[in-house]
Amino acid sequence: MIEYLKKTFNGSEAEFHAIATKALEEEQKLFVVTANPETMMIARSNEDFHKALVDESTTIVPDGIGVVKGMNSLDIKTNGRVTGVGLCSHLFKEGSRLKKSVYLYGAKPEVNDKLCEVLKKDCPDLRIVGHKNGYDNDPDEVFEDMKRQEPDIVLVALGIPKQELLIYKNLKDFKKGIFVGVGGSFDVLSGTKKRAPKLFVKLNLEWLYRIAGDPKRIKRFYQSNVKFFSVLKKEKKAEKKA
Ligand code: UDP
Repeated sequence: MIEYLKKTFNGSEAEFHAIATKALEEEQKLFVVTANPETMMIARSNEDFHKALVDESTTIVPDGIGVVKGMNSLDIKTNGRVTGVGLCSHLFKEGSRLKKSVYLYGAKPEVNDKLCEVLKKDCPDLRIVGHKNGYDNDPDEVFEDMKRQEPDIVLVALGIPKQELLIYKNLKDFKKGIFVGVGGSFDVLSGTKKRAPKLFVKLNLEWLYRIAGDPKRIKRFYQSNVKFFSVLKKEKKAEKKA
C-alpha cells in the first residue's frame, strides 16, 4: 500500500487537469489510474494489477478520499482528490476545444449510447471514433479496433481491475493517447445515474451517498476501505521496525 501511496499524484485537481491538457496537446502517451482504497487492496493480491500500478510510466491519482487520507498518514502533503468523473469531463471539454478524438468503451448499451448523444450536443468538436458497450463486445476485438483508430483519448468503463488490466496489456501497441479506467463515470456523465449532491462531494462524503443508494456496496466498502487502513497501519509498523 505504501508503495502505491508514495507514487500517487499529490498536486491539485486543477494541476492534474493541466498535465492532461498538455499531454493531449503534445500527443503524449499517458495512462492514468484513478485510485480509491479498493484499487490498492485489489492490487495487493493481483500480481498483474500490482505490476501495472508500480510501473513507472503509470500515473496514479487519488480518486477516493481514503487514498488522500492514506497519503496524509505517511506525511505526504496533498491537495485533495482528483476524481475520475472530473477527469473525464475535463478530457471531453478539452478534447472538443482541441478537436481531438475519443474512444468510449464500457457501460451498458443504453448508457454508452446516451453518453454519445450528450457529447455530440455538449462537445461538438470532439470526434467519437469508436464507442462500444461493456457487455456485448469482446475486449480483444474492441482493442484491435481501437488500435486502428489511434484515438487521442481512450476511456474504459468496465470496473476495476478489468479496465486497467486491459489498458496496460495493450498500451505498448499505441503511439499516443490518454488512457483512463473510469469505472462508473459513463453512468454519471450520461445522466443515467446521479452524482452525489455537491455538499456530499465538498464534505468528502460521496462514498456515503453511494452506499445509501446501493446498500450492496456496504460489504464492498468494508472489504476495501476498512481493511485498507488496517493494512496500511501494519505496513507502517513493519517499515518502522525495518
Ligand atoms: N461494466 C461493464 N461491463 C461489465 C461490468 C461492468 O461495462 O462486464 C460497467 C458498468 O456498467 C459500470 C462500470 O463498468 O458502468 C463500473 O461501475 P462501478 O460503479 O462498479 O465502478 P467503480 O467506479 O465503483 O469502479
